[in-house]
Amino acid sequence: MAKLLLGALLLLTNGGSVNFFSLKQDVELGSESAKEAEQSLALVRDLNIDGYFRGIGQRLSQNRTLPALKYRFQIVNSKEVNSLGFPGGAVYIYRGMLQMASNDDELAAMLAHEIAHTASRHGTAQLSRQLIVQAPIAIAAGLTATEAWKEQLGKLGISLGIDAPFLRYSRDQELEAGLLAVRLMADARFDPNAFRILLEKINEIQTGETSRAPAFVFNHPQSDTIAPEIAEEIERLTAGFRRARAPAEFRTFRTNLQRLPYPIAKTAIADTRPDPVSKIFTHPQDFYRLGYPDGWQVTRTGPNGAIIAPADGVQASRNGDDITHGVMFDLFDIAVPERSLTLEQATNRLIVFLRQRNQSLRVVPGAQTQMLVSDEPGMRTVIIEKANSSNSSEVVWVVTRLYYQSLFYMVFVAPEDEFAMYQPIFEQMIRSVRLR
Ligand SMILES: [Zn+2]
Repeated sequence: MAKLLLGALLLLTNGGSVNFFSLKQDVELGSESAKEAEQSLALVRDLNIDGYFRGIGQRLSQNRTLPALKYRFQIVNSKEVNSLGFPGGAVYIYRGMLQMASNDDELAAMLAHEIAHTASRHGTAQLSRQLIVQAPIAIAAGLTATEAWKEQLGKLGISLGIDAPFLRYSRDQELEAGLLAVRLMADARFDPNAFRILLEKINEIQTGETSRAPAFVFNHPQSDTIAPEIAEEIERLTAGFRRARAPAEFRTFRTNLQRLPYPIAKTAIADTRPDPVSKIFTHPQDFYRLGYPDGWQVTRTGPNGAIIAPADGVQASRNGDDITHGVMFDLFDIAVPERSLTLEQATNRLIVFLRQRNQSLRVVPGAQTQMLVSDEPGMRTVIIEKANSSNSSEVVWVVTRLYYQSLFYMVFVAPEDEFAMYQPIFEQMIRSVRLR
């Protein structure tokens, strides 16, 4: 068993993909996830609109090279720029994204991209990676081979709906999905070049000053420029391709979509549920990005770090700024000649360093858990800090991940009695981290 597990870990570190789930489990997990997601999503149910949309999805998914899944296509009536593709074939494109399409080729690019993730089984591959890090014992015990696997996932705190962590893909997967998407497009006689145009449009709103970064960008980490492999493939596929004009059906679809009212009442509340980390902090040289809540303030603390906290979360003190609730993050230099440190060793060094600056920090015994940080193994250490001023304690999470010659770290702080309130925000922030 141990040998098997080691094999899996080696696969992980080599960047190879490993998937503990069967195609049948993809379908089960996906339909469960889709059911959960649809409880909070307002779907467009108007044949004049989604009939045309589904037709394009079917044209793309009727490709003999794809695994036989039941591909389903739904429009989410939301202004958000996002798309979801659950394992097993359920694809959702948000109206905010759809309205960016100028023609049916761009619409096809959105659908082909999600079909590609679904067909390549990227969701369960991500879930497998998460399990290796978070619950290797469950894997060794054959979790995925038992009937109770869905229940087990719940106990491990892995959610399935629209916030499912496995819907956030790695860059390798984005490349793979991009390559497959442009091929699906060409096979179905759509212009693959629309894939590039769509990415450019998304990039534009991402860098726009007024709008917030779309959820799509977090789920699908793309580079600022299209991957050269995909650009080459588009070049190859479009040789001799004649660009079609937006057909009349597309224009009708677009008009009908624009006329459609946004949902009100109950669904609207669920739909406009604020994204807890809608703002994005980007390192000056783009070493990393992370999301944070709207209204929190950013204070740069050096070339690589910052404090982000609510206005009342930071107090000036003799040693600089004291955070009572919020997060600080930075790169910690661990360059050691002769040998490199493991994540655990580097984390312990950081904690020694943090304790030198604050004597009241007490590491809770055994409170070190492994977790994924930007797709790579990371670690969370829980520390209790006894505040001097009062009797109340602060809970501190130190989240670490190796990053070249340094350790990327985030220190989350909140008073013990308020921690439950901040925990979901902190978890969301950890999930939002993207290291380059
Ligand atoms: Zn993607």
